[in-house]
Amino acid sequence: MSAELHFHSIAEAAAQLEAKTLSAVELTQAVIARTKAVEPRVRAFLSTDEATALAQAAASDARRAAGHARGPLDGIPVGLKDVIAVKNQPLTAGSRMLANFVSPYDSTAAAKLQQAGAVLWGRLNCDEFAMGSSNENSAFHPTGNPWDVSRVPGGSSGGSAAALAAGEALATLGSDTGGSIRQPAALCGVVGIKPTYGLVSRYGLIAYASSLDQIGPFARTVEDAAIVLRAIAGHDERDSTSFRTEIPDYRAELQTRRGPWKLGLPKEYFGEGLDPEIAAAVERAIAFYKAQGCEIREVSLPHTQYCLDTYYIIATAEASSNLARYDGVRYGHRAKNAKDIVDLYFQSRAEGFGAEVKRRIILGTYVLSSGYYDAFYLRAQKVRTLIRQDFLNAYKEVDALLTPTSPIPAFKLGEKSDPLAMYLCDIYTIGVNLAGLPAISVPCGFTRGNLPIGLQLIGQPFQEASLLALAHSYDRAHDWSSRHPKL
Ligand code: GLN
Repeated sequence: MSAELHFHSIAEAAAQLEAKTLSAVELTQAVIARTKAVEPRVRAFLSTDEATALAQAAASDARRAAGHARGPLDGIPVGLKDVIAVKNQPLTAGSRMLANFVSPYDSTAAAKLQQAGAVLWGRLNCDEFAMGSSNENSAFHPTGNPWDVSRVPGGSSGGSAAALAAGEALATLGSDTGGSIRQPAALCGVVGIKPTYGLVSRYGLIAYASSLDQIGPFARTVEDAAIVLRAIAGHDERDSTSFRTEIPDYRAELQTRRGPWKLGLPKEYFGEGLDPEIAAAVERAIAFYKAQGCEIREVSLPHTQYCLDTYYIIATAEASSNLARYDGVRYGHRAKNAKDIVDLYFQSRAEGFGAEVKRRIILGTYVLSSGYYDAFYLRAQKVRTLIRQDFLNAYKEVDALLTPTSPIPAFKLGEKSDPLAMYLCDIYTIGVNLAGLPAISVPCGFTRGNLPIGLQLIGQPFQEASLLALAHSYDRAHDWSSRHPKL
């Protein structure tokens, strides 16, 4: 149990709210005070709205007093990545293009959080249009890693991970297209889950690569992640890729699903480029599962070497199409002194988008253009099928896969200037998105330099209940999540 309110888990805070030894307003005030104290160094937020958060907290207290509390999220302050729409709140995607945009409607995820009684606290920084692995592509400012503010928090949902690690929210939401929840979770020492493609509605999520994007929670414990995931998951007729499936009570299932599991170690995920301290921490986690009676065996995902290329063809192709709408007419920044309509498009997009976003639009337009479509886009789609098949073949032998989340711990701001070096940060996470699978990153130790390390567990489609139980069995036996950065 954390003495400081802002470091409470949702489960701890919910128990106190229920016992009426704590009010939602007190909790929200504590989180706001913490945010004000650390934000000059962490810079995880793009905007905050204190009055609305406190009003939602007061409404939660009133509901509870009247005997109508809505469950474990009622009165809990939750922050949202600035690509997830909340009605009447700014929605910038970390881009100058949307610097002054205010969302006219709620995303389904935000609406569901509010139905569960959560207090929405702030808009969290991210790489521009969720493209990046360090938060340095935000058009507004970089975010510091709370464990060492001269280092990156990861990305693209870096603000979501950093705010939680710093005690500026009790949970946050991010989005994950190629690793953007799991990699920053690993670098900041918190739990992050990317759900199966189709489990959480993408309605009201600013689209990056629509066949890969998923919204998911960051939380301090796997139990907390289970609570938030249950609140936001479920079929939504406003997202045509949303899947009809029963949403179990993931938190209750943590108690009933106890293994032992058969775990696969994909040999392609333990090779060159993996930091030795991360390898050692993951080895210790493997030893833990073995001691719990799990069967561990090596498996192969033979098309892993094509993941990065495949991802950067499909993701950029979809991005070039999705970002066409930001033309200064229908959406987004409009250039002031354009000569004519064509010039207006050129100038608005030149001024509104940053360098990485432009690089991807150009790449994506190229792989979709006639003459190159078959050679790149169509072929990438075929390789994608092979990559998914690799995972499904592995699941004939094992229940889940265990890997490092990130090959390296948090690096220095400004350290990686080469785009390819940055793309390699996602080497262990992108295969999961291409295959549409669920995966979770759980803290599993620290480097000698006191930087967090993450363990990735990859599950089977729509088997989040098993995946969370597997992760929880590790998480509750270790106290990594009760350590907090000194800020
Ligand atoms: N870093 C990867 C990219 O830049 C993944 C980003 C994400 O998951 N949104 O595309």
